[in-house]
Amino acid sequence: MFTRLYLHIPFCRRKCPYCAFVSQESASADLDGYAETLLAEMGLAAQAFRAERPLASVYFGGGTPSLLDPSHIARILERASDLFGLGQGAEITLEANPGTVDQKRLAAFRSAGVNRLSLGVQSFADPMLAALGRIHSAAEAGEAFRAARTAGFDNIGIDLIHALPGQTLPLWRTELEQALALGPEHLSVYGLTVEEGTPFAARYTDDSPLLPDEDLAAAMFEEADDLLTAAGYEHYEIANYALPGRRSDHNSGYWRRDGYLGLGCGAHSFLRRGYGVRFGNPADLEAYAGAIAQGRLPHGETQSLTRQDALAEFMFLGLRMADGIEEETFRQEFGVGLEETFGREVSKLAALGLLETDGGRIRLTRRGMLLSNQVFARFLP
Ligand code: SF4
Repeated sequence: MFTRLYLHIPFCRRKCPYCAFVSQESASADLDGYAETLLAEMGLAAQAFRAERPLASVYFGGGTPSLLDPSHIARILERASDLFGLGQGAEITLEANPGTVDQKRLAAFRSAGVNRLSLGVQSFADPMLAALGRIHSAAEAGEAFRAARTAGFDNIGIDLIHALPGQTLPLWRTELEQALALGPEHLSVYGLTVEEGTPFAARYTDDSPLLPDEDLAAAMFEEADDLLTAAGYEHYEIANYALPGRRSDHNSGYWRRDGYLGLGCGAHSFLRRGYGVRFGNPADLEAYAGAIAQGRLPHGETQSLTRQDALAEFMFLGLRMADGIEEETFRQEFGVGLEETFGREVSKLAALGLLETDGGRIRLTRRGMLLSNQVFARFLP
């Protein structure tokens, strides 16, 4: 049913005004109590769902998982290993905010079993970091990266955001160059989306002159593609670049529709049963922890995917990857050919220059990556 484990840590030092993730300010958070709740939930889930032992990856996401004590991480990984097994060389990622770590803490996370660090740098320009409401400066982000290296991490990813208010193309290029100078194994490069319900949504309307327009945002995407691929990174997913052999295994599992169990407040799960089953935990911390305290899993409504849902998901998740979709894999999953199922849509999108077919594979072109939402909409039921 699942081969991957996700743990959501819904606390941050300060809530960033653009953020729509499930997280709350951590000043009064009971981190010990939350870690115990996660352990209890894992025990309940192990009774309810079957893991295909051993796990291929574990991912601590948030929120700010680096607020947890390294001893919490060690206990959670030990319990996961006991209950589900941890594969030799399983990828174990911790998302870390540069404003929450120093070399000693990072070394302790490494000793606890974390072997991949995802640093939420977001920008290497202090005015951009101020606009984003981040708790760290660009210099501190660089220091956190170097501290992680010294602490023994040989697999570090950096997250960056472009299309920020007031950001120019030359500034974005400088930020990419600063990221490259650190030599990360992985870079995630997202365009800012103004999410409903956030302070940014009140501040910036869609046509706000303060935000880069569509053309500038596209130029920033292309600039990243040009610079990072020239530096030897594979552009392996719309928003992700990696040195050879350093793709995120956990996230690649999402795009291949591997089953994963999500634990924690607001976490989502996808189990491989039938065409797939999705469910999520409440985003409300009290409701989540209250259910676990009563010895029950706090899942909301379970969505059992129909064949049509699964076909669409297979297409729009698989096409996110630069390797695209293999026609043979499609046939193995669904027992029919891709051509007879989506031939008309694929031909139309190829004629528009958004998709290309090659040696039994279908993939997005660079223009298709830029306009990916328009492509994915064509496969929806
Ligand atoms: S640190 Fe990350 S998860 Fe936390 S509020 Fe900021 S963007 Fe959201």
